[in-house]
Amino acid sequence: MSDHVFGRSTKGTMPTAVKGEGCYIIDKTGKRYFDGSGGAAVSCLGHSDQSVKDAIRAQLDDLAFAHTGFFTSDAAEELADMLVARAPEGINRVYQLSGGSEAVEAALKLARQYYLEIGQPERRHIIARRQSYHGNTLGALAAGGNAWRREQYRPLLIETHHVTPCYEYRERRDDESAEDFGTRLAQELEAEVQRLGPDNVMAFVAEPVVGATSGAVPPVPGYFRQIREICDRYGILLILDEVMCGMGRTGSFFACEQDGISPDIVTIAKGLGAGYASIGAMLCTETIYQAIANGSGMFQHGHTYHGHPLAAAAGRAVIRAMDERKLVEGVAQKGPVLEQMLRDRFGQNAHVGDIRGRGFFRGIEFVADRETKATFDPSLNLSGKLKNAAMDAGLVIYPGKGTIDGKHGDHVLIAPPFIASEDDLAEMVDRLGQAVDKSLAAVA
Ligand code: PLP
Repeated sequence: MSDHVFGRSTKGTMPTAVKGEGCYIIDKTGKRYFDGSGGAAVSCLGHSDQSVKDAIRAQLDDLAFAHTGFFTSDAAEELADMLVARAPEGINRVYQLSGGSEAVEAALKLARQYYLEIGQPERRHIIARRQSYHGNTLGALAAGGNAWRREQYRPLLIETHHVTPCYEYRERRDDESAEDFGTRLAQELEAEVQRLGPDNVMAFVAEPVVGATSGAVPPVPGYFRQIREICDRYGILLILDEVMCGMGRTGSFFACEQDGISPDIVTIAKGLGAGYASIGAMLCTETIYQAIANGSGMFQHGHTYHGHPLAAAAGRAVIRAMDERKLVEGVAQKGPVLEQMLRDRFGQNAHVGDIRGRGFFRGIEFVADRETKATFDPSLNLSGKLKNAAMDAGLVIYPGKGTIDGKHGDHVLIAPPFIASEDDLAEMVDRLGQAVDKSLAAVA
C-alpha cells in the first residue's frame, strides 16, 4: 500500500478493490463483497455495466472535454432533456455539475440570485432540518444539520436555521398520530419563518427521505404537502435534496413524487453517475430560470467541469439502462420484498428499534433498550463494529450514528443495486444478519 495516499481515515488499512461484477466488488485477494449500500447509495446499476462502459468509451473517442464557457455538447443537452422528462411538475431546467455538494451549493446560490433578480434582496435566510446532510463544502455543510460533521467548522459556516426533522421513530410523541406529527412540524417551520421575518427567508432545504445522517428516514404522509403550502404562502423557495434518495432509489425517479409535491429546485447526484462518472445536477423551475434570463442574463456561478461531456454521456447511459431494463419499476416491486426480508430477519431482535425506508433505500436503527429507545454508548462504536463485521462477512453497508446528535443512534443504511434479484437480496440480508449478530454480541 502506498504511504502517500491521504485517505478518508488516517487509521488502519482497507482492502484494495480491483474489480466490479454486478452486485459485487472484488478485492486483490479475490474476496467478493456484496455491495449492499452501493458505497453511499451510488451504484444503482451495479458494477461493470457494459452499456455504460460502452457509452463512456464512445464519448471519449469523440470528445472528452469542451469548456461550457464556449461550447455545449449533445451528451449534456440530451441528458438535460431526459431529466426534465422525468422531473417533478414545473421543473424545466438542468444545471450539470460534478457531484452532490456542488449541486447543493449551486441551489443555494441560485436561490439567492433569484431573489436579487426579482428585487427581494432582503431574502437571505436558509431554514433546514436537524439530522440532515447536504454535503461537505462550506455552504452545503452549513445547510446540513449533522452536528458532528458541522462542529469543527462552525465558525466558518454561514448562518442557517434548523427545525425538527420528520423523524417519526424519535420525534413523534406517543399521544400524537403520524398526521398530527407532520402538522406540528409544519407549524414549527411556519413559526420559524415568522420569527425570522417572512420577507427575509430565502429557502427551506430538505431531503425527502433522509439518508446519510439518519438511515433512510421517510416523511410521514402529508408532511411535505404542508411544507409546500407554507413555502408558497410566504414566497419561500423549496429546495429538495435528492442527491441520495433520487434517481429511482425509492421506487420512483424522484422521491418527492411519492409525497405528491414539486419543489422549486431539486438536486441529484449519486445514482445519476451510478459510480461510472462524477456527476450531479441542480434542476429548477422555468420561473427561476426566466427571472435570470430576463434579468442579468447570467447565473453568477460555474465550475470548470460543469456540464462535462464524459460525465453527461455516463448519466445519459445510466438513464437509458434504467428505462430499457425497467429498473425503477423493479425497485418499486422488490422494495416491499426487501422490507419483509429485513423484518423477518431483524424484527424480533431486542436491539433493533426501527426498520424503515422506501424502495431500495432502507435503514435499521439499533438501540440498547427497545422500550426506552436508549442508544448504545457511542464509545462502544456499534456502527463501526457493524461495518467491520459486514466487511468480514463480505458485505458493504453504510454505517452511521447521526440520528440523535451526530454521536448517538447507531444505524445502517442499505441501498443495494437496482439489478439485485430476490435471491441477491436474500444473500445480502443473510450476510447482514451475520454482521449484526456478531456486532451485537460484542456490545450487548
Ligand atoms: N446531499 C445529500 C442528501 C447527500 O447524501 C450527499 C452525500 O452523501 C450530498 C448532498 C453530498 O454529495 P457529494 O458527496 O457527492 O458531494
